Amino acid sequence: MATNKLICEECDWRGTVDSALHAQNPFSADEEIHGCPSCFTPCHLVFACEHDGCWLEVSCGTPTHDGEYAQTCGKHRPVSGSLPLASRACVDDEMTESDSDLLNLLAVIHGDGGHYVARHGLEKAVEDAKRIVNRLKQIENMALDMMSVVSSKPRG
Ligand SMILES: [Zn+2]
Ligand SMILES: [Zn+2]
Repeated sequence: MATNKLICEECDWRGTVDSALHAQNPFSADEEIHGCPSCFTPCHLVFACEHDGCWLEVSCGTPTHDGEYAQTCGKHRPVSGSLPLASRACVDDEMTESDSDLLNLLAVIHGDGGHYVARHGLEKAVEDAKRIVNRLKQIENMALDMMSVVSSKPRG
């Protein structure tokens, strides 16, 4: 379930999407803009963490088992889904640069946007990545062998 909580960056108003002011974007007819009902500043509303009672700005989109995204602050990121998608790597203090490098590397090896890590967890993703790399090396060696057999064939 996506969060429906909004906070105003101008005056710290807190409320739901329903209680915010809605208006048609004058520059784009099929878009809607939201305004703060407290200070009437438009376009300064940001989504707040969906965790009950938490009003920090959303900084993570974590895939959940039902195929949706949990929208939370860094602290309330669901742990069940393991790590966030590499492509949506969450910027928070626990996550170092090398962590996101690792996630990106795993996403490359598994050939997805990080779904494998999200679904199976980091440990299994690393184990399976090793297997994939080893298999690729075997295939490479076989290919090299075949090439050397072909090239060493007597000509004529
Ligand atoms: Zn406001
Ligand atoms: Zn939170």
